[in-house]
Amino acid sequence: MLTANETKAALAANGPLGQMSTFDHENVVFCNDNVTGLKAIIAIHNTVLGPALGGTRMWPYATEAEALTDALRLSRGMSYKAAVAGLNLGGGKAVIIGDSRTQKTEGMMRRFGKFVNSLNGKYITAEDVGIGTKDMEHVFMETKHVTGIPPALGGSGDPSPVTAYGVYVSMKASAKERWGNDSLAGKKVGVQGVGHVGAALVDYLMKEGAKVTITDIYEDKIAEVIKLHPTVEVVAGDKFLDLDMDIYAPCALGATVNNDSLSRLKCSIICGAANNQLADENVHGKIVMEKGIIYAPDYVVNAGGLINVYSEVAKYGRDNAMAQTENIYHTTAAIFALAKKENIPTFMAANRTAEARIAAIAHLRTKR
Ligand code: NAD
Repeated sequence: MLTANETKAALAANGPLGQMSTFDHENVVFCNDNVTGLKAIIAIHNTVLGPALGGTRMWPYATEAEALTDALRLSRGMSYKAAVAGLNLGGGKAVIIGDSRTQKTEGMMRRFGKFVNSLNGKYITAEDVGIGTKDMEHVFMETKHVTGIPPALGGSGDPSPVTAYGVYVSMKASAKERWGNDSLAGKKVGVQGVGHVGAALVDYLMKEGAKVTITDIYEDKIAEVIKLHPTVEVVAGDKFLDLDMDIYAPCALGATVNNDSLSRLKCSIICGAANNQLADENVHGKIVMEKGIIYAPDYVVNAGGLINVYSEVAKYGRDNAMAQTENIYHTTAAIFALAKKENIPTFMAANRTAEARIAAIAHLRTKR
């Protein structure tokens, strides 16, 4: 596995992690199985609030150090997301090194299930990039510490509609902050990426009377939306960022709020589903603030999916998950209020909120 220098380099690449000793990772475990070809890492960032829940990503990482960096970064993000959403969950993430289209087998996923099981519930897994519900069924054969399994097996089903609802209510809270009124009627909203979450978000926006423009790299995704909403406008990807829009909703990939986009965007609000929207929090989170754009922090906005899979652990249904997701409206508003009070960027207000909750509960644990 990794040499000492590679491990050091991977940790250093995580920047802020090194500065936040209270929130360092609790466990990082490696699994190497020659028979199935499984090479996996599980990173458990923090379990103060509860077991570490986070998806498994299968990706052909160029090096083991790159895989470790991803696991460390993503697991920390899960701790923050769960903390701000008010869930009794910690943050963890697993990565499997390999090509999910050509190298994944039932044997590999079941071996991974045994690996998850060896942590005795300290880590609970779910789907992420390169991993689907079928894979989780295989994992479920070897461990009960798994979520995101199909409804037929007692799972919570596709979390995307719940995530989309959270984005929608967060966008309303952002509108209220910006214009003093949370109605989205007549607002020009640009949705970048109309996959599972983006398409469901468009449904909510159209119902409320927003003027929606979409873009996607796949024609079939666009066609599905237009079939339901013929008045939605479509724009090519290279023209999207120059649009005259009130609200920019990134619902495709991360790091789209960067030097290039910030020199072109004319929006008042950024609020969307994508993870890690700010290419560099400390740089672009501050520029957004200086430009007077309201940025609704991504992990606050998109917590509906996590709230939904947590329903499998906490044993509540979809209605309850939707009700909890509706609360993202108030959470978003509280983050804006803190940012204003402290005169700090909104991403920082979200991070502080997460860290304060984890620290408070950690303190509680030391009391009899
Ligand atoms: P998805 O793969 O179903 O949809 C993404 C869409 O973006 C696809 O239609 C894809 O063609 C499009 N796309 C990719 N690159 C693009 C580009 N450069 N320009 C325009 N469109 C592009 O994924 P999803 O489940 O809808 O998730 C969307 C985002 O939200 C992801 O970043 C994901 O990590 C995040 N997220 C999703 C959930 C969930 O419940 N699904 C929860 C939390 C966060």
